[in-house]
Amino acid sequence: MRSVVQDYVDSILGGCVVNRSGAVADYIPELAAADPDAFGICIASADGHVYEAGDTRVPFTIQSISKPFTYGLALSDRGIAAVDAKVGVEPSGDAFNEISLDPASGRPRNAMINAGAITAASLVAGDAEPERFERIRATYSRYAGRELELDQAVYESERRTGHRNRAIGYMLRTVSILEEDPEPVVDRYFRQCSLRVDARDLALMAATLANNGIQPLTGERALAPELVERVLSVMTTCGMYDGAGDWVSGVGLPAKSGVGGGVLAVLPGQVGLAVYSPRLDEHGNSVRGVEACRRLSRELELHFLHVS
Ligand code: GLU
Repeated sequence: MRSVVQDYVDSILGGCVVNRSGAVADYIPELAAADPDAFGICIASADGHVYEAGDTRVPFTIQSISKPFTYGLALSDRGIAAVDAKVGVEPSGDAFNEISLDPASGRPRNAMINAGAITAASLVAGDAEPERFERIRATYSRYAGRELELDQAVYESERRTGHRNRAIGYMLRTVSILEEDPEPVVDRYFRQCSLRVDARDLALMAATLANNGIQPLTGERALAPELVERVLSVMTTCGMYDGAGDWVSGVGLPAKSGVGGGVLAVLPGQVGLAVYSPRLDEHGNSVRGVEACRRLSRELELHFLHVS
């Protein structure tokens, strides 16, 4: 028998599917190959109920949604103080790939923009590659509850065209935020962005954060509770590119989007949401992803400041 929740998720999908505005990202050639009409919504509760509608098993690359998870790993590996010495927690208001540092502190402003994300990737412990990337891959897999894999074609596309990210890496090296050769660090970042997920994986990753760091289906811990709070705080203020303020007022959930078309949002203690739809708005956020999350938040009263 179909559940009420399942019917509801189907109705959100049906309500948003008519929205065909926005454009698929094309700054990495390989991303432009995504089916613009693909659309999936998945909701996973913190106690492990999963509801899926539409294209929830269509693979795509995680892209910037990787950033909070690598940030969490860096925090686990080095401790909050050591990470804070290198990356701030202030929203930047700039584009995600801005080549700039906070003039007051000399650090990247936060770990959700590329400069901060590349710094976080540099703080992942391990003797050498491939171990350091493998730890990233294994960590995301722990959140998803299955083994995630690299999309080789997207990775090569990123590596061929990612000159701006290399520029950011060298800038970080110049000011000693990076204390090692930037090339392998930026390469690690390209790889983390190229890990393949689907909307169901992302919803379970979000549900793991909602469940205070424990994957609801496997029972495995992916992140310590005190770090979950930090990761969700930075997602709240910095997760939705330069559309963060609008998102917090309209949806009110810690979230992260990626140019692959994914959006992930977390209601702490309750639920993880994920949407996949590759057409993006001017900020780089999935158009239908934002609309679906807005509707879900409004209709289910998910805004974290909502008082019923
Ligand atoms: N790999 C992409 C980049 O850094 C990620 C972009 C994104 O999803 O915002 O350019």
